[in-house]
Amino acid sequence: MARILITSALPYINGVKHLGNLAGSMLPADVYARFQRLRGHDVLYVCATDEHGTPAELAADAAGMDVRAYCDEQHDIQKRSGEGFSLSYDYFGRTSNAPNIRLTQHFAAVLEEKGLIAERVEEQVYSIDDDRFLPDRYVEGTCPHCGFERARGDQCDSCGRLLEPTDLKEPYSKISGSKNLEVRETKHLHLVQTQMETKIRDWVDASTEWPSLAKSIAYKWLDEGLRDRSITRDLKWGVPVAQGGTARPGFEGKVFYVWFDAPIGYIAATAEWAEARGGDWESWWRTDKGADDVTYVQFMGKDNVAFHTVSFPATILGSQEPWKTVDKLKAFNWLTWYGGKFSTSEQRGVFMDQALDILPGDYWRWYLTANAPEGSDAAFTWEHFQGLINSDLANVLGNFVNRITKYTVSKFDAALPSAGTPGEDEAWMAAELDQRLPALVAHMEAMEFRKAAAEVRAIWAAGNEYLTKAEPWVKYKSDVDAAAVGVRTGLNLVALFGILAQPFIPDAAAKILDTLGVPDDKRSWEFGDKPGASLLDALPHGMAITPPPVLFAKIDDAQVAEWAERFGGAPSE
Ligand SMILES: [Zn+2]
Repeated sequence: MARILITSALPYINGVKHLGNLAGSMLPADVYARFQRLRGHDVLYVCATDEHGTPAELAADAAGMDVRAYCDEQHDIQKRSGEGFSLSYDYFGRTSNAPNIRLTQHFAAVLEEKGLIAERVEEQVYSIDDDRFLPDRYVEGTCPHCGFERARGDQCDSCGRLLEPTDLKEPYSKISGSKNLEVRETKHLHLVQTQMETKIRDWVDASTEWPSLAKSIAYKWLDEGLRDRSITRDLKWGVPVAQGGTARPGFEGKVFYVWFDAPIGYIAATAEWAEARGGDWESWWRTDKGADDVTYVQFMGKDNVAFHTVSFPATILGSQEPWKTVDKLKAFNWLTWYGGKFSTSEQRGVFMDQALDILPGDYWRWYLTANAPEGSDAAFTWEHFQGLINSDLANVLGNFVNRITKYTVSKFDAALPSAGTPGEDEAWMAAELDQRLPALVAHMEAMEFRKAAAEVRAIWAAGNEYLTKAEPWVKYKSDVDAAAVGVRTGLNLVALFGILAQPFIPDAAAKILDTLGVPDDKRSWEFGDKPGASLLDALPHGMAITPPPVLFAKIDDAQVAEWAERFGGAPSE
């Protein structure tokens, strides 16, 4: 039994995430966690809301709420929406909770001992009317290069040039619109990443199980040269720059930058899990306390790769303490909305809570896994969604389950028949399984989720092809025993289809397996060598068969038209 630690990129607190966020981190992490549990491994899957920083403050402000109360509310919303998609976190924590504050302050202290923290004075724009320093992106004004009037303090969206806030003409506060700004000096802590380059490069070189996308992004950053980064901000909402409850002199009213504390949240969420459930978090994270046998797997969108392969490692490796670092890293491209961006303001795209309003989580889980943005970006369209759900889930899986269980009720007294001997058709089906199941497991181990879903679909389709060959409904008229073999094999395929569906569409899978009465210890993914023949005769002869409720309703054209109207469809010409 292996120990596998899984994290998915922490969703930011300001609002419900869209389907692209789900598809590119949380969902595949869950599919993988479920798979590894079914393989019999000891899995710990943690995630958390990333709650600090200016965007949270501003969102709370816009909602007329205290930032703590706002985060409480938004955390609950995100937690519930994760539950709606059956995301099987062992723990869903918060970066604003005590363990993350403790650990963030710990890392800062240790990095300082190692000479990797420097106190430096910077010049920053201060808004007198807002009574606060403004982060670069919250200063806007006219671009000195192209004259664009709403250029941000870090970059001009019109000409793309990188800017400093002081470059802007006619600068104003994005928060209040006030032009009453001045440049003030402020002291900040910097993480001296320039001293970490060799160490991080050696570590990236030694990481053999990263996909090429992740490695190339890490090397691109390293080749450009690391820069020292400020890890504190003049903000109220965040981890205080303090030790043992006492603020660092000159840093009263300052906090660690969200960039610094958020990834520490992976460790902190594990500590929260241990507090809540009585586990030992250090055995998952400290190689001196048992974590040397842990395999750590991270899931994230491609925009987060540099952060996980360079920035966070600078913190962990810089501490020189025996922390666990990532072993396998799975990065995703973008799920697009008809080739464009999801947009809240333009009402394009579906957000997680809205998706659950119109269909159960399994529909989305299947689509987003089968259409995962793995090798390249993948476009969501209502038509593609409708086609995939109707063919894979309603027809290939749903009809199969329904047809064979109902037939058992009507012709075999609702009991699994024991008569007859398997023949050529059953041998064909067994050979299909002998070949396809190892391929499926290999795709899952490799975290190739599109291929894995395609293999599951191929197994479901092979089951349908088997029934077409065996045609028990035809044989029943002349040879009831021969029909019994087909029905028995078909019912065993129903159970197997349920077993294979578990990581992808867990709610439908549970319905199938619960209705059939497959015990928990018979639901595993430990198939062994050449498992086909035994899987096709695994259920006890004579067991009572109850057809499950209809698993998936077909999506009709009228629904598609209604949803395209409500959430946006193909961009109008
Ligand atoms: Zn410009």
